[in-house]
Amino acid sequence: MALRILIVGGGLAGQATALALRRAEHNIQVFENSYLTPEDTAGPLVHLGPRSNDLLRSWGVDTAVAKGVLIKTIDEFDRDGNAKDTGVVLPPGWMYYERSRLHQALLNAATASTGSGVPVEVHLGTEVVSVDTQAARIVLGDGRVFEGDVVVGADGFYSTVRKTIAHVDTIPINDRKIAVQFSVQLYSGPLTQRFPNQPERYEKWTGSDLEVRVYSVEPGYLLFECTLPAQAGTETTPASVKALLIQAFPSNQTELAQILAALDTKNLHLWTQAEYPRVQTWTSNKIVLIGDAAHPFLPHEAPGTSQSLNDAATLAAELSSDVKAEDIPRHLAAWTALRKERLKTLPCFYASACT
Ligand SMILES: Cc1cc2nc3c(=O)[nH]c(=O)nc-3n(C[C@H](O)[C@H](O)[C@H](O)COP(=O)(O)OP(=O)(O)OC[C@H]3O[C@@H](n4cnc5c(N)ncnc54)[C@H](O)[C@@H]3O)c2cc1C
Repeated sequence: MALRILIVGGGLAGQATALALRRAEHNIQVFENSYLTPEDTAGPLVHLGPRSNDLLRSWGVDTAVAKGVLIKTIDEFDRDGNAKDTGVVLPPGWMYYERSRLHQALLNAATASTGSGVPVEVHLGTEVVSVDTQAARIVLGDGRVFEGDVVVGADGFYSTVRKTIAHVDTIPINDRKIAVQFSVQLYSGPLTQRFPNQPERYEKWTGSDLEVRVYSVEPGYLLFECTLPAQAGTETTPASVKALLIQAFPSNQTELAQILAALDTKNLHLWTQAEYPRVQTWTSNKIVLIGDAAHPFLPHEAPGTSQSLNDAATLAAELSSDVKAEDIPRHLAAWTALRKERLKTLPCFYASACT
C-alpha cells in the first residue's frame, strides 16, 4: 500500500528521506520552514564514503548537479607553503560535496517529473508548529492541517517534532568548537591552478595551532574551512576569526596568507553549539525522528550527513510498499532499534544519547 508520508524539514536528511521513500512508491510531502536558497543550505563541505555515494547513485541523484569530487590525495602544506610528504593513502570511493549543491541535487531528484515513484511535493516557507502523535497530523503556522499515515521529523538539531514525542535533556559541551567556512572566486595563482591541473584532491594547510582545508568544485572557485576551539568568556566574531587565521599563516609570501588578508569578513560563516540534545525516544506511534532531530551531530563531526542518508535508505527498506497501516508503529520501532545500534558504534557519537 502506498503510504501518505509527511516529512517535517527539508534539510539533507529530509530530502534524502523524501527521495528514498518516493523510490519505495510512497506519496510524500515535505514541509520546510525556509525557502531553501543557497544561503539557507550553505555550510562546510560534506565528505561521503563509498556506501553513501552508492546510495546517491541508486536514487538517481544527478551527479552533474551534485558535483561531487572524488578524493584520491590530500596535499599538505606548512604555514610557509612548503609541501609536506605525508605518504597518506586514502581508501577508494570517498568524495566531497559543496553542501548546497548536494542539497539541490537531492531536491531535484525528489521532485523530478521523471524517475520512479510519484514526484515529492515540497511546501517551502511553511513552519510546522505542532504534531498529533496519535493521528499522524501536523499543523502549520498559518493554521493549515495535513494528515498522513506517517510523520517523519527531519527538522534538525532544534527539532519541533522531537518536543512533541519526548522530554529531551541536554549535555553541555565542554570542549566547544567553532566551524568556519568561506569561499572566494579567484582565477589565477598557484593554489587556484593546482585544482584543475591535478583534480581529485584537496589541500590541508597547517599553521600554528590551526589547520585550514581548501577545496574546489569548479575552476576558480575555492572553498575554505577550519575548526577553532571556542574561547571561554570571549565572543568569537568573523573579525576575530580573520585575525586568528592571519596570525596562524603570517607569511605574506604564500597565496593563502594573501587570500586571508584580503578576505571580506561578510563572507566568513561560523557555526557552534553550546549544548547537545540527548534524544532517547525516536518514535511514538506513527511519528519518527530522523537525521539531526534523532541523533544530532555537531558541525565539526563529519558523519552527520552520511548517517542521514543511511537513515533514509534503511527507513525506505523498512517501510516497503507492502506495509499495512496498522503495522506502521512496529516498523518504525524496528527501524529505530536498528539505527541506534549502528550509531552507537561510531566513535564520535555520544553513546549516552542513544540509550
Ligand atoms: C556547520 C555544519 C557543518 C557540518 N559539517 C558536516 C560534514 O562535513 N559532514 C557531514 O556529514 N555532516 C556535517 N554536518 C552535519 C550535517 O549537516 C547534518 O548532520 C545533516 O545534514 C543532517 O541534517 P538534517 O537534515 O537532519 O538537519 P538540518 O540540515 O538542520 O535540516 C533541518 C531542516 O528543517 C527545517 N525546519 C526546522 N524546523 C522546522 C519546522 N518547525 N517546520 C518546518 N521546517 C523546519 C530547517 O529549516 C532545515 O532546513 C554539519 C552540520 C553543520 C551545522
